[in-house]
Amino acid sequence: MPPLTLIDTHCHLDYIAEGLHGHEPNTDLSEILKNAAEKGVNWVINPGVEPSAWNRVLAVADQFPNVFAALAVHPCDVASVENNPNWLTELDALLNHPKVVAVGETGLDYFHQPSETCDFQRLCFEQSLELASQKNLPIIIHCRNAEADVARIVDHAPKLSRGGVMHCFGGDAQFALDMVERGYYISFAGNVTFKKAEALRQAAKATPLEWLLVETDSPFLSPMPERGLPNQPYRTRFVAECLAEVKGITVEELARITTENAIRLFGLPITV
Ligand SMILES: [Zn+2]
Ligand SMILES: [Zn+2]
Repeated sequence: MPPLTLIDTHCHLDYIAEGLHGHEPNTDLSEILKNAAEKGVNWVINPGVEPSAWNRVLAVADQFPNVFAALAVHPCDVASVENNPNWLTELDALLNHPKVVAVGETGLDYFHQPSETCDFQRLCFEQSLELASQKNLPIIIHCRNAEADVARIVDHAPKLSRGGVMHCFGGDAQFALDMVERGYYISFAGNVTFKKAEALRQAAKATPLEWLLVETDSPFLSPMPERGLPNQPYRTRFVAECLAEVKGITVEELARITTENAIRLFGLPITV
């Protein structure tokens, strides 16, 4: 395997450790990160999805120098803050942690819940955008079946000087270009490698290289050829190989550019 350097820009290491969502717990994160580094995946960003996860994520980031953190409330987890009027204040304070590089993940998910029941999701998303603006941090957006509302809310929110990323991108080529125009990077996860994901590969093809990121979204969405297994950060490599093929460049070149992009977006204090 040729040497290269990749950043898994979205990996729920804390989920892997806790074994959430039906997965077996795997508490040996040092082994998982060592395995990733051997495949060239040298850095990981771990997003926190609800208040009970925030300190867990920060503990992982404190433990491993090559892990950075992002904190917010996932659209499918907004019930966790519905009765907590202080959640934004608590989040605001934790965002000052030195390993935090973004507000995320936040956004809208109309796949698991019909959009007409998602007022609170939309409110949390708007408030998270405002907080990112105040803290001068980039934002990590989760968007599932909610493209029009995500674009509308982003357009009405304060403009983020540092932009953000559409993580685990699931829209079409036009939406990718529309979000790039708004200053958002487009991050592809393991599902871009799936056989039927031709539309996603078209979106990747349309995305300018300097706006492209890679991620695994572990423990979800394990890419081909290891689809169906609990995902791990080393498989960023498979995502990168797929995107390199789509773009018609070498995986080394794809890795170099997406790593530069991630360093720029998240202001990572690392040199490659
Ligand atoms: Zn997500
Ligand atoms: Zn996620």
